[in-house]
Amino acid sequence: MDTFSLLARYDLRLPRYTSYPTAAQFDTRVNAKTYRRWLGAIPEGASTSLYLHVPFCASLCWFCGCNTSVVHSVGALERYARAMVAEIESVAAAIGHRLPVRHIHWGGGTPTALPAPLMQAIDAALRRYFIIDGATEIAIELDPRTLPGTAEVDLRALGIGRASLGVQDFSPLVQEAIGRHQSVAETRDAATVARAAGARSINLDLVYGLPQQTVASLEATIASVLEIEPDRIALYGYAHVPWMQKRQAVLAGFDLPDAAARLCQQTRAAAMLVEAGYRRIGLDHFAKPDDPMAQARGTPRLRRNFQGYTLDDAAVLIGFGASAISALPQGYAQNATRTIEYLDAIETATLATARGIARTAQDDLRSRIIERLMCDLTVDVASIADAAGMDGATLDDAWPQLEPLETDGLIRRNGAVVTITEAGWPFLRCVAACFDQYLDPQASRHAAAI
Ligand code: SF4
Repeated sequence: MDTFSLLARYDLRLPRYTSYPTAAQFDTRVNAKTYRRWLGAIPEGASTSLYLHVPFCASLCWFCGCNTSVVHSVGALERYARAMVAEIESVAAAIGHRLPVRHIHWGGGTPTALPAPLMQAIDAALRRYFIIDGATEIAIELDPRTLPGTAEVDLRALGIGRASLGVQDFSPLVQEAIGRHQSVAETRDAATVARAAGARSINLDLVYGLPQQTVASLEATIASVLEIEPDRIALYGYAHVPWMQKRQAVLAGFDLPDAAARLCQQTRAAAMLVEAGYRRIGLDHFAKPDDPMAQARGTPRLRRNFQGYTLDDAAVLIGFGASAISALPQGYAQNATRTIEYLDAIETATLATARGIARTAQDDLRSRIIERLMCDLTVDVASIADAAGMDGATLDDAWPQLEPLETDGLIRRNGAVVTITEAGWPFLRCVAACFDQYLDPQASRHAAAI
């Protein structure tokens, strides 16, 4: 059966598996009290990463699934920054000691929507309560269209070492459809500013499956992207979920590329990037051969977390801001998603945890298997179960689900080793889903897997 014939069978709505269990399983049994208890149990010296969510943008792009909104009022931005500082203080008090930080990630939204003095106030609070030094890698998401004139100085003051710039597609037709106008020149200029500010690694985000997008528009975009010479490129499939992200309803008037068209776009874009010398990483990332992520490919150093593929192996991830998710050894805890609810919670109750999930030993086992599959495209299920001291028979529900994928040539099995074939790469999430104990594909609210 050729790849396109398989689409009808495997074009399912599935998670991207940036965590397991996924956020779809979070509920209110995890609350601020739970989170405070988990924070208090973090041992001294535990390696830690910090995520800072800034849910503001200068304008909204209709395709975007991020938790963000347009806010220009300086008072509102100041209130949000004050809340983040207060949250940092509350979290630090619950931990009770200063943790060493490996990575800090400023995400959003558009982090630089906060004026530089507010970002610096948040940064200063982090440095007061955590151990942040020259070994801490600090990354930021940037919108090339709205970089302030002082960006180089501002980013240098924050110690930014890695920057991720949104592109999506340079086609004017696509940009008009998604409400995001951005030239190649301003993208190149933003990369230059970030590099001048000290960013040693530049990532560009591309998206396929957008309205008005074609293989030709994507080819032209990639040709321009290659001229900017990013160290990494992320190639995401557009996640059309208007039932979860209301702003995407604006795109209802367009015929979105169907599964076959999406697959053509993904396959052609990936081929161009590989031809240009980039190494393919997992589901949707590409890196230059000398980039640390490319060098980590096929080793346990390549990891997957809420930011996608990463080299961050910290035991603890603490998220600050509206909708931010923390990953602690005991489970996941997510802050209130709506900014106003986050602000009210922080101002009245010090923590803003709204939901989450406590992980079981079985969750941890399946999480490791899914992570290795998503990173390495192969996994030795028995070895992982042995290393975890778990009975491999608890995974027996996965094998019958994998059988049709093997018959269709999407995976190879050698005993308990499962390997994705070249034809199976676009279907990686379908393979990972076989190890997901919670997933009900019929009831799924996720985006299309291809
Ligand atoms: S794509 Fe970036 S700039 Fe556009 S709405 Fe989303 S976070 Fe904001």
